[in-house]
Parts: sequence; structure tokens; C-alpha cells
Amino acid sequence: MEISSPQFYKNKDVTKAFVNYLKERLKKFSNLKIMEFCGTHTHNIFQYGFRYAFKPNLSFIAGPGCPVCVTSDYELAEVFYLLEKENVGIITYGDMLKVPYKGKSLLDFRSDGYSIEIAYSALDAINIAEKNSQKEWVFLGIGFETTIPATAALIEMIIKRKIKNLSVLSFHKNTRSIISALSSIGELKVDGIFLPGHVSAVVGWQYFEDINNFRIPSVVVGFDPLDILYGLYELINMIESGEVGIKCCYKRAVNEKGNTKMLISIGHYFDNVDCNWRGLGVIKNGGFDINTEFEQFNARKRYDFTDFRFDINKNECSCGEVLLGKIEPTDCPSYEIICTPDTPIGPCMVSHEGTCLAYYKWSRING
Ligand code: SF4
Repeated sequence: MEISSPQFYKNKDVTKAFVNYLKERLKKFSNLKIMEFCGTHTHNIFQYGFRYAFKPNLSFIAGPGCPVCVTSDYELAEVFYLLEKENVGIITYGDMLKVPYKGKSLLDFRSDGYSIEIAYSALDAINIAEKNSQKEWVFLGIGFETTIPATAALIEMIIKRKIKNLSVLSFHKNTRSIISALSSIGELKVDGIFLPGHVSAVVGWQYFEDINNFRIPSVVVGFDPLDILYGLYELINMIESGEVGIKCCYKRAVNEKGNTKMLISIGHYFDNVDCNWRGLGVIKNGGFDINTEFEQFNARKRYDFTDFRFDINKNECSCGEVLLGKIEPTDCPSYEIICTPDTPIGPCMVSHEGTCLAYYKWSRING
């Protein structure tokens, strides 16, 4: 099987041999801590059995890499505020539907008769708005740099098709900002970092060069078993030799500068803004909002927010601490007892990229 074949990166025999080799290499370490910044890595590391394979010499720590999970209560409050406006409906990706805020989710509002539609891509929002033209629709822009180009394409389509009843409420987050934010609050106590492969494919690995300030070895990693092991192999090499900086271990998808077209579309429609993250509060330049040139498509400008109030929502959920890697989901008193995928208390148990869901789903199989 050729190394260039996609199937190679899933090869079971090579994976098994690589795991055994890395176990030997890791014997000299007591407990290396590697943080992954992508929910897909969190799930795949579980799914392939790597979360437990290298213990006690190495632990993977899930960081704030699930876009639905880092969407803050403040932002959810904005959605519920808009829902109460006359004739306004919400269009969202499915994972957001079950995220509770003050004990109620969008799904509950939907059962109460509010207009909430699910989109499978940003462009679905066009069809929904055109088919239901008597209503005003707000699309929730969720995700990191990976999904912003799709929201940018949506705005472009709204303009081209002269759609008057559709705007965007942007919750898009800036991945780069999170590493310095974690460092500034002293929560980046790790020996190595797995940088997200999907985001890096859009922005290029150089985007993360601020990591050099924190002197933590970091690798851009893909998602198949051998991608993850190769990333780990390079991290071990860096840790052993005292090397810091960024290495790209996902060159079949990621280059230094990223995808020029996508970066241009992000820059055309969006500005970097301060942004509220779950568990971290407001992060400087932590998000993206629609810029002033296109503000007529920004729901925060289209609708009157003068009466908007936000009360801090106190509940039994520890998602904030899970997202910072301070605790594992199993340390949360609600885990499995009152919080399950059917009865989620927080977003980390809802989203398919959420850490609590990953623990719930995979630790029973692999633990
Ligand atoms: S187990 Fe549930 S309540 Fe606890 S942190 Fe996770 S999502 Fe929140």
C-alpha cells in the first residue's frame, strides 16, 4: 500500500506496530501532558484507543476545540432574545438545538411553536428563507475558521439573490486567540500541543506562530490513526531534543499559508472582534463578526438589542472547566447521573465534538 493512499493512514498493522514503538519511547516519561485543540481529535483519540494506550506515561487533555461547546451562555441569550422578536425565526446547525440555556434549549422552544429550522450547510439557509419569505430569518454562524468561509459564501449569496429576510448572528471563533488566552490565565500547563488539522488547512500552519512565545512544542495533526501517531512521534522527538515551535505533520492537507481564496473571503466579510467564550469569558480578538461594510446582514445591527440583558446562568454544569482541561468530564458531579446524551445539562454532552460526549461514547468501549 502506498504512503500517498488515504487507506495507508488507517492501516491496522502499521498502527499496532507504531503504538508499540511509541509505548517504548514513552517509558522514560512519568506523565507527559498533550492538549488537543480540536473536538474531532478528541473523539478520534478516544475512538482509536489512544487515550488509554499510553497511560501512565502520557495523557491527552481535551482543550476548547468544540465550536458548539465554546459558544457562550451570553451568545445563547442573544439567540433567545431574537426569538422573542415578532416574526423572527432561527436557522441553525443541528448540534445547537439541544444546548440548554437556563434549562431550555432551542428544541424546547421549537416544541413551543417558535420558528427554528435546521440547516445542514450554510447555504441551506437560502432555501429556508426563500421558501418562507413572509418571515425574517437569522442564521447562527457557529464554528472556527473552518466554517467561516461557508458563512461568507452565504452572505455573498444573500447579496447576489437580493434576499431581504435573512441575516447572520456570528458566533465564529478565532482559534489563534485561544492559545494565548489559556496561557495568560495560567491554564496552558502542557508539554505539547496538537494543533487542529481542519483549521490549519484553511489558515495555514504559520497562523499559529504565536505559539513560539510560549515555548511549547506543537504539531499540526490530521485525523486518521497514523496521522495522530505521527504527530505524537514528532512531539516526542521535539520534547526529547528541547525543540520548540511548530511542525506540520499533516502536509497532505496543510501548507504554510493556508487556502488563499478562503482567507480572502473571511477577510472580505469579517473583522476580528472581542468575543465571549464559554469557560473563558471575553477574549481579545477571540471571534469574528461581520464588518461594517456588510452590517445590514449582521443580526446584531439589523435588530434592536437595546433591551438585551444577560444574567449569568448558574447550573450544575462544569463545561467551562472541562473546556479548559482543568477537570475531566468524569469529575463533573452531573456526568452520567443527570447529564447524558439524552438529558444533556451542558453543550459538551450535546455536540458531536463535545468532550463529555466523547467520554460517554468511547470510554465504555475503550476504558
Ligand atoms: S457532564 Fe454534563 S454537566 Fe458535566 S460538564 Fe459535561 S456537559 Fe456539563
